[in-house]
Amino acid sequence: MTSDLPPARLRVAPSPTGDPHVGTAYMSLFNLAYARKTGGAFVLRIEDTDRARYQADSERQITETLRWLGLPWDEGPDVGGPYAPYRQSERLDTYRPYVDRLVADGHAYYCWCTPERLAELRKSQERSKASVTGYDRLCLGKTREERALLPGFQETPVVRMLVPDDVPLVFDDLIRGSVAAPRPDDQVLLKTDGFPTYHMAVVVDDHLMGITHVVRGEEWISSTPKHLLLYGWLGWDAPAFAHMPLLRNTDRSKISKRKNPAARLLWFVEQGYLPEALRNFLQLLAYPPADDESEISTFDEFVEGFEWTKINTVGPIFDLDKLNWLNGTYIRNLPVAELGERLVDFVRTHQRPLTVAESAVVYGAAAMLQPRLVLLSDALDQLTFALTPDADLVIDEDARSQLTDAAPGVLDAAVATLEALPEFTHEAIDEGLRTTLVEGLGLKPRVAFAALRVAVTGRKVSPPLFESMALLGKESVLARLRSLRASL
Ligand code: GLU
Repeated sequence: MTSDLPPARLRVAPSPTGDPHVGTAYMSLFNLAYARKTGGAFVLRIEDTDRARYQADSERQITETLRWLGLPWDEGPDVGGPYAPYRQSERLDTYRPYVDRLVADGHAYYCWCTPERLAELRKSQERSKASVTGYDRLCLGKTREERALLPGFQETPVVRMLVPDDVPLVFDDLIRGSVAAPRPDDQVLLKTDGFPTYHMAVVVDDHLMGITHVVRGEEWISSTPKHLLLYGWLGWDAPAFAHMPLLRNTDRSKISKRKNPAARLLWFVEQGYLPEALRNFLQLLAYPPADDESEISTFDEFVEGFEWTKINTVGPIFDLDKLNWLNGTYIRNLPVAELGERLVDFVRTHQRPLTVAESAVVYGAAAMLQPRLVLLSDALDQLTFALTPDADLVIDEDARSQLTDAAPGVLDAAVATLEALPEFTHEAIDEGLRTTLVEGLGLKPRVAFAALRVAVTGRKVSPPLFESMALLGKESVLARLRSLRASL
């Protein structure tokens, strides 16, 4: 499937600051698509230089959810690769010499200003609505001793880049064409804790890891001029850039974990979305369907037609109705046995333990549930009746109140009919009960079967009645019919 394009190296570079954002999956998908299209490589790099926001569980959640989604990386912290290590905290020695070089060349300088002084500076710039904002370069050109005489001094300096007046602000983007960004501040490159900032580390690593295409969210456009300066100063060729549109809520606001549960990648796992449905959904965000006829397409089809210029820069709305539709469609397209396995696995992992017998019930319900499931998580509720011992079945009040005077007769006739059935398949049950109740007793199917549904499931609404009965088995069904009959 590879094209005649030169093999590209791409990466996704999440920061492990919490459970993964759906945007990480979106970026991974598009990065991976181009890596596959060109026969190149897709790299996972963990950008863990922000120690204040670091969360220990986050990296595992990132790798587990991306793997769940079927977006594998060729190189990464867990699989290794020629440019290891792939965790920035393990590469601190790598960055330092480049920082020193920038200082020696006059492209960067030490800054001993305290956080308090910087906060004060920011406040006064805001108050005076200053046209020039950002760091005021108090430390520029001063030795440590000179600076120490002034207020707001701290012992350990940071290193800042010296952004020149003529910094180029326009760059080429594979999706957007020519893009203009605002003038950057004298960005910190090395922090007091000895860790590089994102800006320093990302440029060094993208270069050393041979990344040819930097594909990331639109929020990084304003950082790109800084990165381009660094590439130039270090004498390196810059990669190509593609800034993907931001995902948006239906009210067009940026999707955030604080406001929208669907911003959390784990939410989709917990809800019972199929990874292939979510992958297909992400393929359609700001991107046209692979096929004119249908929005359903495989990853390979997506890769086949992949082009940066097809991406729409308008932030796509994250439409859960569409995802639900896709999920239902993928559920219906699964072989029944596979749906059964996924249901058992889902219930066990995310809902509750299952005994061997209960697993068999859930597995056996796949064919019955397949036409009506939206999420894997819906199954457990629909199967409550089948996972409850006969003696514990509770008849809902609203279900009981539906029973008519015909109920005792219906239940008696049903027991007699079902007892005599030689095989307890849903077809045989359907035929037997129709013959007795509808044709024999002359009852309307609605009346006849409503009473049976209440007896068997305890509810007004349930999965299809005859299939529910077949799932329960003859003994259980008869016990339940008799029990309701006895209570009337
Ligand atoms: N670590 C950055 C993030 O968390 C990566 C940005 C980039 O891809 O350059 O989004």
